[in-house]
Amino acid sequence: MPSDHLCPCKSQKPYIHCCKKYHEGELPETALLLMRSRYSAYAKGLTHYIILSTHSSNPQFTKNRIKWMDEIESFSKETTFEDLKIVNFEEDGEKATVTFEAILKRGDQDISFKEKSFFTKIDNKWLYVSGELIK
Ligand SMILES: [Zn+2]
Repeated sequence: MPSDHLCPCKSQKPYIHCCKKYHEGELPETALLLMRSRYSAYAKGLTHYIILSTHSSNPQFTKNRIKWMDEIESFSKETTFEDLKIVNFEEDGEKATVTFEAILKRGDQDISFKEKSFFTKIDNKWLYVSGELIK
């Protein structure tokens, strides 16, 4: 199978059997699936998916929406999404955390980072609340 048919979330599954259904409106059952689908949405430049899966308490919501969309678009365009490693996933009722390592490049520059992301479930929909970088 050509590698460009594989899901950018690095699940090794074809995109059509992985994050595509979430990008088309199906709700991810877990925060981990939401996290993976956000990673693949960044890789595919699906700006609206990133915005619609972010909780309104996220600091980005207080900023200029057009500027935020531009930032997501340039990040998607300028970044090579090399790998995604899930380090930890904890779910407790309506709250969840996912710790992951995103292996990213911008040109020759390594811009990889490790983050603990916080999620909350509202009306059966998981949303990204915030993230803190882990050294
Ligand atoms: Zn996927």
